[in-house]
Amino acid sequence: MNNITAQSSSLNTPRSLAGKVALVTGSTSGIGLAVLEKLAAEGADVVMNGFGDPTAIETLRSGLEHRYSVRVRYDGADMSKPEEIEAMVEAARAAFGSLDILVNNAGIQHVEPIETFPVEKWNAILAINLSAAFHAIRASFAGMKGRGWGRIVNIASAHALIASPFKSAYVAAKHGVLGLTKVAALEGAEHGVTVNAICPGYVWTPLVAKQIDEQAAAHKIDKEQVVRDVLLKNTPSKRFAEAAEIGALTAFLCGPNAASITGSALPVDGGWTAH
Ligand code: NAD
Repeated sequence: MNNITAQSSSLNTPRSLAGKVALVTGSTSGIGLAVLEKLAAEGADVVMNGFGDPTAIETLRSGLEHRYSVRVRYDGADMSKPEEIEAMVEAARAAFGSLDILVNNAGIQHVEPIETFPVEKWNAILAINLSAAFHAIRASFAGMKGRGWGRIVNIASAHALIASPFKSAYVAAKHGVLGLTKVAALEGAEHGVTVNAICPGYVWTPLVAKQIDEQAAAHKIDKEQVVRDVLLKNTPSKRFAEAAEIGALTAFLCGPNAASITGSALPVDGGWTAH
């Protein structure tokens, strides 16, 4: 097929998520932003959430709206605050009429041995990486079940399946997200609501870049060594996944061909958890 034919046939293909409304938590950066962009590209109206410079966020918001001809709303709810999460879900419904797709993505990390792990970091990681997903599902589940259609994708981690030292809160929270995914999948199954967890290994995002700097300082080694000997040590493919790959899998899970995929943990980890 030549380029012109390929382009015109893709223009004629109906977008798979046209008419749907999606909320992606933590979508001002990294994986969440790539997921938001992919869902918008498939025609969903989207709610962007997360922190950042207001001018940069508005540039992202209006850019997505123009590029994909969908409605894009920004909500700055703090995912550590249950009442703000509930209000965000309600505001999305009020603005767009429904909430069909929920992607629980917001997450933070802290790396330190258990004996000195700060209690406030433990509490923040459990709140943002685990409890926020519960509160967002709780607030949106009845609407999805009532309409007989819904898609929930939890961006978990390879650390939902296996552990690494010094990541007690993160690993505990991500294992918890997988448990929550399975329970919600069972409760949603008869109502057309699927719930899945994507379990990425290392994806090239600001969260990982920050870890490289921290680990280089902690181990007194250079950044290339951190990548080779620490981060990608157990990754057989020796590559970081791209955030867009997680976006594409999320869009697939939200589409019509994934109606029977539910309660799953889908690793995107270059073979890490195959060990
Ligand atoms: P990132 O730091 O680039 O983005 C995190 C997003 O969450 C940002 O938009 C940030 O503003 C938002 N956020 C943080 N705290 C928040 C709060 N209290 N309220 C609202 N929003 C908040 O990180 P990322 O690498 O894109 O990670 C996204 C998700 O993917 C996380 O859940 C992370 O655990 C998971 N993950 C990442 C990797 C990786 O290698 N990058 C691997 C596995 C899993």
